Amino acid sequence: MQIVWFRNDLRCRDHAALQSAIAADSTVAVFLWAREQWQNHDVGPARLAFLRRNLAALASELEALNVPFRILEAQRFSAAPDRLLTLAKQLKATVVHAVEEFPLNERRRDSQVARALEAQGTAFCLHPGGAIRNPGSVTKDDGDPYTVFTPFKRRWLSGLNDAERRPLKKPRAQEAVDPLPRLSKDVTDSCLDLNSAFDDVDASLHRSLWPGGESEARRRLDRFTKQRAFAYADARDFAAEPGTSELSPYLSCGALSGRQALAAAISANDGRAANGNPGVDTWISELVWRDFYRHVIVHFPHVSKRRAFKPATDQVAWRSDQEQLRAWQTGTTGYPMVDAGMRQLNATGWMHNRLRMICAMFLSKHLLLDWREGERYFMQQLVDGDFAANNGGWQWSASTGTDAQPYFRVFNPTTQAERFDPHGRFILEWIPELAASAQILTTRKRKAFFEPWQNPTLSPDYPAPIVEHKAARERAIAAFKAL
Ligand code: FAD
Repeated sequence: MQIVWFRNDLRCRDHAALQSAIAADSTVAVFLWAREQWQNHDVGPARLAFLRRNLAALASELEALNVPFRILEAQRFSAAPDRLLTLAKQLKATVVHAVEEFPLNERRRDSQVARALEAQGTAFCLHPGGAIRNPGSVTKDDGDPYTVFTPFKRRWLSGLNDAERRPLKKPRAQEAVDPLPRLSKDVTDSCLDLNSAFDDVDASLHRSLWPGGESEARRRLDRFTKQRAFAYADARDFAAEPGTSELSPYLSCGALSGRQALAAAISANDGRAANGNPGVDTWISELVWRDFYRHVIVHFPHVSKRRAFKPATDQVAWRSDQEQLRAWQTGTTGYPMVDAGMRQLNATGWMHNRLRMICAMFLSKHLLLDWREGERYFMQQLVDGDFAANNGGWQWSASTGTDAQPYFRVFNPTTQAERFDPHGRFILEWIPELAASAQILTTRKRKAFFEPWQNPTLSPDYPAPIVEHKAARERAIAAFKAL
């Protein structure tokens, strides 16, 4: 008997662990419900609801493959070794398979699971699939890890092999495993059905925006790579356009693998991973960014301990101001582009990449509040929350990370809005208080739309700015210069 332990890889296609298990012997699948641990990792309601939908979809995919699927309660990662060991013993399983995960706590959990299982004669086999190119496979000539994206990408592309381009097919259904060996009461007691596991989760939260399941993920991938990908290079920075793939939630929970996304892009690009259509090439670069941050958290584990990638920047004198933090979180800073982004996040669980950069930079530079506060808030709200990408994005914006923005480059929220939302469509979608001032967009005074404080009578319900751009910028630069 073989066990497949599903984690952030909620799919049956391109799943090396499931594929190997079914090829070897009768297979049972398990998912560990670790609510306390997720709380600790700031997994919020949007992600829990999405997780529930994806687990339901996975359960039916597995049923079609005749693979029995159990959800076992294990409040914290520390309970994982015991739960898996007990299950393995009772099923007389010889191997537990899983797809590799990269965050530090997950890797520590896996080492403990491996030790516990191996001490009892059960193998623990980790398979690739959490990144397109696994950490360790893209290094400098001397074996050191990259800390700058562009040379990383060059090496990533030049070493890309056939296996990394070709997703695995869905495994064939196995013979029905019937009946399962009898499980003892302590195991059956810890088995949860989806309804009881998620009884306090609003399963319908954002359902129409983010339906669950790998079929949905592949449908969206197909639509994107056949149409919008070709215009991606030009459209991706304009939040009012449907210019990006919106696949991040599916990639984050593993309903879609990075390799499936890459393969579809390469196929749209006439077989090329680079030097093809500029839109598709640029989209592939984003998949490489995703891998880059996965490599960073493995090679530089201190970033997983709430520390800055650049140690010196841990000394920045971040301010503490609950009122301003709250204004940022609720989208009431008085800067339309920032507020529109935050309101999009709060309302949909997702935010456009351009806005993530603007909002993150506003918190860490204009407000000079600790970027970790923003990182945590994003994580609590995002449906696509992903430790590596979120930490990487925040440290980039706060100028504390790899490849970070130089500290003196501080996005001006007004010019960002004028450039990336020139017709105010995105702002107007999220800030109804500015509807009456939309008329000035067609006049010579259009800048006042993006700076409502210039004409407060037009938008009496919209808040005044909580900081002044120039002074805030100078304060941030001084804080970094003081290091
Ligand atoms: P597309 O533009 O279609 O890109 C395709 C895929 O590439 C994305 O789905 C994503 O998996 C990956 N990708 C794109 N940009 C990046 C990037 N800069 N870094 C890493 N991967 C990338 N992404 C997350 O998936 N989860 C997060 O928690 C997250 N937090 C972020 C926080 C900040 C402050 C910033 C600046 C960025 C963050 N990102 C995060 C990266 C990026 O904003 C999102 O991946 C992207 O907006 C998702 O939209 P999309 O699927 O339409 O992306």
